[in-house]
Amino acid sequence: MAGIIIKPRSRIFHGHDWVYASEIQKTFGNPNPGDVITLKDFRDRPLGTAIYNPESQIVARRISRRTQSLNKDFFERRIGQAIAQRESSGIDPRLARLVWSESDGLPGMVVDCYGDHVVLQTLTLAMYLHREEIAEVLVSLLSPESVILRNDSPMLAAEGLEVEITMLHGEKPGPFIVEAPTVEGGVKFEIDLLDGQKTGLYLDQLDAHTAIAKLAKGKRVLDCFCNQGGFALACAKAGAASVTAVDSSEPAIAATLRNAELNGVVINAVKHNAFDFLKHCEDQYDLVILDPPSFTKNKKTLNNAMRGYKEIHLRGIKLLDRDGILATYCCSHHATRELFLQNIVSASVDAKRSLRMIASHGQRLDHPVLPAIPETEYLKGFVLQLMPSR
Ligand code: SAH
Repeated sequence: MAGIIIKPRSRIFHGHDWVYASEIQKTFGNPNPGDVITLKDFRDRPLGTAIYNPESQIVARRISRRTQSLNKDFFERRIGQAIAQRESSGIDPRLARLVWSESDGLPGMVVDCYGDHVVLQTLTLAMYLHREEIAEVLVSLLSPESVILRNDSPMLAAEGLEVEITMLHGEKPGPFIVEAPTVEGGVKFEIDLLDGQKTGLYLDQLDAHTAIAKLAKGKRVLDCFCNQGGFALACAKAGAASVTAVDSSEPAIAATLRNAELNGVVINAVKHNAFDFLKHCEDQYDLVILDPPSFTKNKKTLNNAMRGYKEIHLRGIKLLDRDGILATYCCSHHATRELFLQNIVSASVDAKRSLRMIASHGQRLDHPVLPAIPETEYLKGFVLQLMPSR
């Protein structure tokens, strides 16, 4: 088998599964992009099997410490193990991320399940080349009505892949309803997996919706960056006194309003830039939720991103009434847990208020973190309560 020899001190010797171009000592046997290759150390000892794409910065991603080919058996075994992990974590596999790339030993493969419909993303060349086989395995394991290939991530370009949205099994599904078990009685969402604007849900936040809804009874709630209303709907169903939801996207606000109707609750959904909304808002709230998109995809813009977080934290804290609660989330891998918490502290200092931490959140267990691959950890959240003035 063709392969590469990896330089000493590369990250793979510390438990990572990626090989960067700068870590390659030598390539042998002329592998083709998308091939399965063998990895060796500088003393010619085997390090396992990887998928190969010299067009990407990450030239090789290890799939096994042994010799392994990409075939139906392999996909069946790994996808089966991933589903079993969700089940044993108490997650209903019918509304979950069933496969999450490196975290499930399937680099570049992402599988989301929404009831009878399955969405596949193939973000590495090798997985893309095997998409039909993967879809067959998904059909045999899950018997879904449809399998959609939804390759529209900005990450595709790094692997030289094109945007492509197509059916791999079954008919195109129209909009349909799923029920998330986030609060008693469930929260219904209308899902449209093929409409360009809307996709599925933020599955990684479903546990956070549950946790925050438990704090919402009788409260005036503000959900900033609400998307389709995940937090807002859960809080309204849990008995919030009032719920305001803000998002800058028109389709997101329309979806929040439709979902509110579907669930028989009232949400004041406002299309607005959340920064401006927070700046000009004159109301006070008992619970403010901040769940923005990632403000930075790289280290270079981290400082700007932290300024953004600081601004919304400061303004969010100022809108809180006595012993009000701030729930704030960060989905940027580069802003670490420590940095993010420090940012909240710094905002509270400027606001001359003291905060007590009442909960700390991470990504749901269907987005598992591998500590040896730090890139798998991205989502953190803190729930903090204002202490009486002092
Ligand atoms: N809280 C949601 C997920 C939020 S995703 C949930 O739990 O399901 C981030 C959202 O922020 C997206 O819907 C996006 O449209 C919105 N957004 C991005 N920039 C924004 C801005 N400046 N002001 C308001 N909303 C913004």
